[in-house]
Amino acid sequence: RQLVVAIDGPSGSGKSSVSREVARRFGLAYLDTGAMYRALTWWCLDRGVDLSDGDAVVEAARALPLAQGTDPDRELVFVGGADVGAEIRGARVTEAVSAVATNPAARAVLVARQQELIADSGRRIVAEGRDTTTVVAPDADARILLTADERARMARRGLQNGGVEDAEQLRARVVGRDAKDATVVNFTEAADGVVTIDSSELTVEQTVQAVIDVVVR
Ligand code: C5P
Repeated sequence: RQLVVAIDGPSGSGKSSVSREVARRFGLAYLDTGAMYRALTWWCLDRGVDLSDGDAVVEAARALPLAQGTDPDRELVFVGGADVGAEIRGARVTEAVSAVATNPAARAVLVARQQELIADSGRRIVAEGRDTTTVVAPDADARILLTADERARMARRGLQNGGVEDAEQLRARVVGRDAKDATVVNFTEAADGVVTIDSSELTVEQTVQAVIDVVVR
């Protein structure tokens, strides 16, 4: 049976861990759309593409030799044969990714690829990102906006980064990236038919349960 679950939210909302776990529980594939923006950014940086040159970025998006897996238990992101799974999470890519994500024509190219991956899954997938509920899979069976207050989001991001970073620097960076991202995609309020789950006071397991409740109802 087909089952498409779309989950959007800002960074630190717990989207990735929650989406992966929901996919496992239902035996679904998992699509990390953020990884695709990150892979394109990595490739642009690697090839010296000027990120402020919109046309060059779109051209790179069209040519991107990307192989992205959809197994929730195994992240697989290859660009031109190189395993970039670790590098796309690094500071260099994270700092540059908004320049790519705010390019509407590049977004259109990546959205089309995301929709292909959803079709390839036989429409049995959890898709996660900023615009999966509204643009990538507006026809999903369950659409969820996962939010969390700033304090909770910073705590999670800080933990993810190994707690090495100055709290104020982290805050400025994450809030800055979300603000840039929000100029092209609205993921701060739920669109019609999208259910909001606030995970500020919830554990990962409780959040997973809340998502499952939405999916099965
Ligand atoms: O979710 P993650 O932090 O990996 O996303 C990285 C970046 O990719 C975001 O900051 C945003 O700029 C972009 N993105 C997007 N639309 C999506 C997913 C991610 O613009 N659906």
